[in-house]
Order: sequence, then structure tokens, then C-alpha cells
Amino acid sequence: MPEKITIIGAGVSGLFLGCCLKKNNYHPTIYEKDISLSPYGAGVNLSKNATLLLDKLGLKDELISLGYLPERVNFRSFDNARLIKSVSLNENSNDFISIDRRDLIDVMKEHYLSLNGELIFDHNCSYIKDTEIYFHNKQKTTSDLVIACDGIKSDIRTKYFDNLIPKFSNLVAWRGMTPRSELSSNSLWDQINIYLGPHGHIVHYPISKGNKINFVAIRKQKKWEDESWVSQGHMKELLSVFSSWNEDVLELFSKSDNLHKWGLYERKSIKKLVNGNLLLMGDAAHPMLPFLAQGSCLAIEDAYSFSELLKINTNLNKTLTNYQKLRLKRGNKIQVKSRIQGYMNHLSNRYLIFLRNAFLRIFGKSIQVSIHKYNAIKEIKHLPN
Ligand SMILES: Cc1cc2nc3c(=O)[nH]c(=O)nc-3n(C[C@H](O)[C@H](O)[C@H](O)COP(=O)(O)OP(=O)(O)OC[C@H]3O[C@@H](n4cnc5c(N)ncnc54)[C@H](O)[C@@H]3O)c2cc1C
Repeated sequence: MPEKITIIGAGVSGLFLGCCLKKNNYHPTIYEKDISLSPYGAGVNLSKNATLLLDKLGLKDELISLGYLPERVNFRSFDNARLIKSVSLNENSNDFISIDRRDLIDVMKEHYLSLNGELIFDHNCSYIKDTEIYFHNKQKTTSDLVIACDGIKSDIRTKYFDNLIPKFSNLVAWRGMTPRSELSSNSLWDQINIYLGPHGHIVHYPISKGNKINFVAIRKQKKWEDESWVSQGHMKELLSVFSSWNEDVLELFSKSDNLHKWGLYERKSIKKLVNGNLLLMGDAAHPMLPFLAQGSCLAIEDAYSFSELLKINTNLNKTLTNYQKLRLKRGNKIQVKSRIQGYMNHLSNRYLIFLRNAFLRIFGKSIQVSIHKYNAIKEIKHLPN
């Protein structure tokens, strides 16, 4: 069994992995490149496949108290907000949570620290050589196992796995939040609404006990010229790009108090998740377009699965093989499905739109269920020892 476990990156995957490993009596160290955890404000939807595992760690109730439990996801047309399909959520249980990413990170970090987890800031991993890890600040450490949780831009993936860099997807996302108190009285704000339009789509949902409405507006764009992947968003541009969309979303945009614009990047599906004593997790393993709201959920599945596999098998090679087998298939599959979902969301041909809407009406619920029903606890039990 590995004596020293190092996690690179304190995002959703790194922090949750830290919590899971501590619960199983391992003592990892997390190294984060930034000087503190100051995540951007943005909403995240967590479906049953993730909340089931958050519950195992005792975090679910706190997340519910900070977030919101939506009852429906409504698919609508972009111009007149006509309902295409409504799918119920949280019918008999509280397993779908909409939350501010800052609250999610905070709950995970506090839990990890309460278990005496070690979290070291200002350590930007520069390279790894066998068991040695080097940081930009000239510090060095050794580790039996290194888990790269360094996000979609993962330098570790590029250097030690596929030698490729992420590619701009020709899609941008504006992300913002609007205080509920600023908006007109409308029950629309209480649920998840997804508007499908030509070359783009918009999602909005309540977070922070319903006091804020988070939105994501996606649109095709030829180039991304900013050096950074996230930039300050400009209201004028957002309102002009979506000027032909319905009044409700325009009201939501115009009253938002915080706007960022993101370039959405992609990487090709990967062929392996393990290279010697190094493994990939979260966005570093399966970076995906966010159209199924599954990036963080899969990061949570990865972290839980790995720490359970480590606990139940004393042979490390077998643990690594099982991790790769289980998570490669799931991650690559959802990555492809997210891309297809984007294509479906952004149709502009009216015959194809008609077919897409008919498909949604018939299969809308089952598509959702098929993704959310994944149970990492059961999947681990089905693996050969
Ligand atoms: C518009 C949009 C909407 C989304 N909506 C949802 C949603 O509703 N539901 C959902 O499940 N997911 C959603 N996601 C996806 C989700 O945000 C990501 O999948 C998730 O944050 C991935 O977590 P991670 O820990 O792998 O990476 P990150 O959260 O990116 O964390 C990586 C960490 O590693 C650190 N790091 C990087 N390099 C180094 C280094 N060299 N040394 C040390 N530290 C390093 C970084 O500073 C960072 O703290 C959305 C994404 C987008 C863009």
C-alpha cells in the first residue's frame, strides 16, 4: 500500500478525494498552486450519482441547507419560452442539489481540514520524476502515488499522458447571478429552465436557498482571443448577442450583479488514466463540455471510487487497473454524450428542431435517469478482486 499519497490541485476532485482518503485512514497531502481557495461564483448542479456519495461522507445535508432543491427541469424554446418538455426532480428524495460552487468548495475544504487533512498552498507543480515532485517555488517532495486533480488545463496530463493541449470548442459561456429580489414575481425562477435556440442555449436555476438565480448562456463564437479562459463579461455584449431571445432571460441578464465570460475548451478522449505511480482524476481525466452538468459529479464519482478501491484491495497495481477500467469507460462515455447534447441544443434547421423536440418529449426523462442512476458503490462491487 502507498505510504505517501500526493494530490495536485484543490478543486472539487482534489478536495473530495482528500475527504474520502482521510475517511479510509489514508493521509494524503494536497498541493494547490494558488495562495488560497478563492473560486469564482458560479452555480453547479449535483445529481444523484454525486449526492449519493456526498451523503456517504456526511456532507449532503449541509449542502442542501446552503443550496436549493429544484422540483423540475423545463426545456423551452428560446424566443417565446414555450414549454417543450418538463421533467420532475427530487420527487421522493432530496438527491438533486443546485448550489453555489463556492459553498461546495468550502464544505469540502472544511470537512477535509476537520479530519486533519494537509492542504499546502502556493505550490505549483512543475514536473514529476518517478517518486519526486518538483514545484515552481523550488520546493520538492516525494510520494509513492501522485493523483493529478489539476483541472481541464492539466499540465500533468499534457506532459505525462497524451502530449496534447486543450482546444477551443468554438463555444463561449456567460455565467452570472441575479438576486431573486431584483426580479419580477414569476414562478419560472423557482425551477431549472433550459432554453434551446439556434447556435446557443441558456440555463438558469436558483441557488443559495433560492435567493439567487444562477445563469449560463452558451453561444457559438469563432475565436477566443483572451489569454485567460475566463474574462469579465460585458452586459452590453450579452444583451446584444441574445437580443432575439425571450423577455424573461433578458430581464435575468440585465439585473445580474456579476458576469464572467468563459471560453469553453475540450480535449480528446484519453486512452489511459494511469501512468506508473501517476493517475488522472476529475477534469484532468475527462474534461467535458458542461451541457449535461456532470463535470463535478464525475469528479466526485472518481474520487470516491478510487479511495474505496484502495481500501478493499491490498495490491496497488490491481487497484490502479480497476480504477482505470471503471472510470475510463464512464468518463469517456459522458464526455461524448455532453458533446452530442450541445449539438442537439444548438440546432437551427426547423425540421431537425421539430425532431429534436419530439425526441425530448418521449425520451427527456429517460436520458436524465440513465446518467443520474449510476451508482459508484454498486459498480465497485461488480469488479473482480
Ligand atoms: C459553464 C460551466 C458550467 C458547469 N456546470 C456544472 C454543473 O452544473 N454540474 C457539474 O457537475 N459540473 C459543472 N461544470 C464542470 C465543473 O465545474 C468541473 O468539472 C469541475 O470544477 C472539475 O473539478 P476539478 O477538481 O477536476 O478541476 P478544477 O475545479 O478546475 O480544480 C483544479 C485545481 O487544480 C489547481 N491546479 C492546476 N494546476 C496546478 C498545478 N500545476 N499545481 C497545483 N495545483 C494546480 C487549480 O488551481 C484548481 O484549484 C461546469 C463547468 C462550466 C465551465
